[in-house]
Amino acid sequence: MKTLQGIAASSGIAIGTAYLLVEPDLTVQRTTVTDVADELAQLEQALTKTTTELMVIQQRTADTLGTEAAAIFEAHVLVARDPELLTPVKQKITDEQLNAAYAVDDVLETFATMFDAMDNDYMRERAADIRDVSKRIKAHLLHVTLPNPSTIHEEAIVIANDLTPSDTAQLNRQFVRGFITNIGGKTSHSAIMARSLEIPAVVGTTNATQVVAKGDCVIIDGINGIVIVQPDDATLAHYRMQAQHYATERDGWATLLHEPTVTRDGVHVELGANIGTPDDLAGVLENGSEGIGLYRTEFLYMGREMMPTEEEQVTAYKKVLVGMNGKPVIVRTLDIGGDKQLPYLPLTEESNPFLGQRAIRLCFARPELFRTQLRALLRASIYGNLKIMFPMIATLEEFRQAKSMLDEEREKLTAANVETAPIDVGMMVEIPSTAVMASVFAKEVDFFSIGTNDLIQYTFAADRMNEHVSYLYQPYNPAILRLIKMVIDAAHEQGKWVGMCGEMAGDEWAVPLLLGLGLDEFSMSATTILKTRAQLKTLDQQAWQEIATEALQCGTADDVLALVKRSL
Ligand code: PEP
Ligand code: MG
Repeated sequence: MKTLQGIAASSGIAIGTAYLLVEPDLTVQRTTVTDVADELAQLEQALTKTTTELMVIQQRTADTLGTEAAAIFEAHVLVARDPELLTPVKQKITDEQLNAAYAVDDVLETFATMFDAMDNDYMRERAADIRDVSKRIKAHLLHVTLPNPSTIHEEAIVIANDLTPSDTAQLNRQFVRGFITNIGGKTSHSAIMARSLEIPAVVGTTNATQVVAKGDCVIIDGINGIVIVQPDDATLAHYRMQAQHYATERDGWATLLHEPTVTRDGVHVELGANIGTPDDLAGVLENGSEGIGLYRTEFLYMGREMMPTEEEQVTAYKKVLVGMNGKPVIVRTLDIGGDKQLPYLPLTEESNPFLGQRAIRLCFARPELFRTQLRALLRASIYGNLKIMFPMIATLEEFRQAKSMLDEEREKLTAANVETAPIDVGMMVEIPSTAVMASVFAKEVDFFSIGTNDLIQYTFAADRMNEHVSYLYQPYNPAILRLIKMVIDAAHEQGKWVGMCGEMAGDEWAVPLLLGLGLDEFSMSATTILKTRAQLKTLDQQAWQEIATEALQCGTADDVLALVKRSL
């Protein structure tokens, strides 16, 4: 039995069999072969296996995630059969008597590099496809297996170095019981996704992929951030009890499903849910959410081959608006960049992607991408209570520019007799400059939503993906509390409301302080809503106003935490 300590990323206990999502070593050596015919035969075999495998993945993806998500594999099948790519490979084997793996690697990489260099998004997408297929063919030639999260078809706990948001989107929800990664922090997007999938996760363990072997029995304690590998009988029995205890506690919260969120002294606050796709809606309704506080629209753009069209976007937004039946839905415009990439939108290589062309900055650089989304949102606005907010605003000019682009698209639609509804327009406060300038922004926005995941990383200059600096993720630090207070006070002065959609909003030690600071809306993963409603029922806002004021004067996050724990 071994124990690993990581970061608790998604609550709950999961017990299951390890599935290692680790890329094997695919480096190939250049060798000379004596039997060219045999080498060509091996290549043919590898190509047949690759095509068959891709077709199986395509079918499975189509069954579980829909035909659009499966389209990428259809494109890969075409690559694996493309004579323009394969003839030069065969020629290289024949003419130079080279081993097949090397010939594949060399020729396909030459093509991929060529496509990469073209000034054309479509061709650059092909480069990514070619590299993917090359990997698959090489794996067959080298007799190693490539993992694929969408092919998991028995109950499993996924272990990976990291899970990109698109890997996470491909996980088969039916069978994946939880996941563990080497890197990442509490607010990395794979962790956020785990919470919306309602599966326990521990991230940032540093070495889980080395310690855990395929097929090992693994326990994830997503409450304490602990992973236990090959547990003994007593530990297994203990965690089975814990899992049951957790389930009972959840049943208790369920009695608050249809109750409003009111503090002990009668103050009403809104509890919203953070979602990534319209499919998350079921979980939102089951958990008694009073609205959607953050719809991360970028997930609509992920795990697929091409940009979603305006029509596809209208359908997705409409589904959420109609599903929420008049309750507020805050849609955040596209936040790509940082740890979120799109295979079909190659971004310039940046040494600091979280400080680079991310979110609204990328939208300004690609106005058509942005305007398509704005039009889709405007068209969907008639189906419910839509509010829009812009991510990563740093300056007032940026907010004004984003808003005027929205106004322009509305005018064009109106001129074309397309109906739209009034929409509140707000912004995320996730860059310290905007918190400092909140009193100025407050005059122009309809609302603020504080994105603490980024606000904390930018305030402490600590990459939210880097487990070595995860100690600087300090939501209780007075520096963060003071920034939050500035935002809330500035907004209230202008009669505007303030929400929070960063992970801090659902943190049980932060909730009382946020209540005391006057936060109006708390948005969190759906599974945390009822627990937070139960907690708020026990809190007195007036009392917490005083405690929060005291917290602002503390020196450290630990002092604040101790104060909260003493006061509860
Ligand atoms: C945040 O930064 O707090 C936030 C909610 O946005 P994201 O996690 O998607 O960056
Ligand atoms: Mg953010």
